[in-house]
Amino acid sequence: MSTAVLIDGKAYAEAIRARLAISVGELHDYHHIVPGLAVVLVGQDPASRIYVRNKHKQAEEAGIRSLVHTLPAEVSEDELSTLIEGLNGDREIHGILVQLPLPPHIDTQWIIDCIDPAKDVDGFHPFNVGHLFTRGTGLIPCTPLGCLKLLRRQHPDMSGLRATMIGRSNIVGKPMAQLLVQENCTVTIAHSKTRDLARECRQADIVVAAVGRAEMVRGDWIKPGATVIDVGINRISLEDGKSRLVGDVCFDEAVAVAGAITPVPGGVGPMTVAMLLHNTVLACCRQTHVEPCLHAVGKRMSSGTRCFACNAHERSSC
Ligand code: NDP
Repeated sequence: MSTAVLIDGKAYAEAIRARLAISVGELHDYHHIVPGLAVVLVGQDPASRIYVRNKHKQAEEAGIRSLVHTLPAEVSEDELSTLIEGLNGDREIHGILVQLPLPPHIDTQWIIDCIDPAKDVDGFHPFNVGHLFTRGTGLIPCTPLGCLKLLRRQHPDMSGLRATMIGRSNIVGKPMAQLLVQENCTVTIAHSKTRDLARECRQADIVVAAVGRAEMVRGDWIKPGATVIDVGINRISLEDGKSRLVGDVCFDEAVAVAGAITPVPGGVGPMTVAMLLHNTVLACCRQTHVEPCLHAVGKRMSSGTRCFACNAHERSSC
């Protein structure tokens, strides 16, 4: 029985954050600029509080100035939009993130539309969504961007591969499917109305699962040797009264069939936060008209060029 390669998102995210910290140091030392990230948290949702604390901690560790604005759950749309407008005009803030979900009385899309697209480090503003589809220079949503980076390590060239994206949400499924199209994959987007999901998975060289259903994707849905990216985060109760996190893929079954697979936790999750920091540094460079460190923005160095932050030469990539 073969065992899949474990795609270690935690280690890769750590390496990306370390490189970003170098870039942030260079921005400070050579340009006297400190990237600023504002995170807006509405209400007391325990999961959201943990995510925000984590983002704040990792931003600070990378040298990014991080400010968390915590608002009561009953805040009005007008109060929230007024805060965002203030952050839009704050020259020391280069990235704005509104932690989702918002309370039901708030129109989430309307609030996202209030964010200056140049500071929309989640990449959810329609301007950035449009840029993603037209291959412009917008900001790409963090989770799909993190998945793409993990996939590129396994498949430097994805041309012609079949990919099945399970899930079609605005924040994961749709942008991820679009990134896979841009990598020249032949992409199937599956969702709750898909007739034979197992069959759609079995034909895929790449399966990305973003559903929110614990261990739904079984081992016999996976084509032998396929790469599996598990975005799902689900907490399940155990018999001893404890709980643990699992993905949307039944890891124990899939690991025996797949060629490579992300674990949960330790796969996509850490990459999402690393990509938030990456987008913040990128947004800061663009707003301050500083040439970004090419490694920091994840580009491959072209011949003869040099990364100003880490002095690495051509053809290496982050
Ligand atoms: P959504 O609930 O917005 O979307 C879920 C998608 O799954 C929908 O498109 C839905 O289809 C589809 N779906 C639901 N049930 C089935 C089914 N039985 N068969 C096939 N498709 C189904 O979730 P998100 O995209 O926001 O998140 C998905 C998961 O990823 C969650 O577990 C979330 O916690 C996790 N997540 C993890 C992140 C990370 O950093 N690791 C970041 C973001 C999310 P339909 O459209 O028809 O309803």
